[in-house]
Amino acid sequence: MTSQKPPEKIRHAHEKAVEARSRAHAPYSKFKVGAALLTGSGRVFQGCNIENASYGGAVCAERVAILKSVSEGDLTFTDIVVVTDTPDPAFPCAFCLQVMAEFFEPETKIWIADLERIHGVHEFQKLLPHPFGPRQLGDAKKG
Ligand SMILES: [Zn+2]
Repeated sequence: MTSQKPPEKIRHAHEKAVEARSRAHAPYSKFKVGAALLTGSGRVFQGCNIENASYGGAVCAERVAILKSVSEGDLTFTDIVVVTDTPDPAFPCAFCLQVMAEFFEPETKIWIADLERIHGVHEFQKLLPHPFGPRQLGDAKKG
């Protein structure tokens, strides 16, 4: 939990995440999520969860934002704000944490929020302290 007022760029990103959440396609779970991803170059990529009738085709808000940014060539990230409308705001799922492991620095900040306010901030390395990543593939014995 953080009792300090978040910096202006994070308050702005929170607004962007709330806005993105309003575009969530969640007819099955009714669980809408918004995300705003801040890049090292100063851009903000929005994401919302996009469900699918196949269920398996669903994509979380965090991954939508990350994939949008990567597809546009922006690969450095400083912060992500994740918004849910629950009394106890949700953290990224394990699938999203794995995708974050591919691109985030250990210190990249994950801000957990509801529609009204930010409840806490955590470094990526605290949420996934032992990620599986490119280093493991490089260390693997070949053949
Ligand atoms: Zn997820």
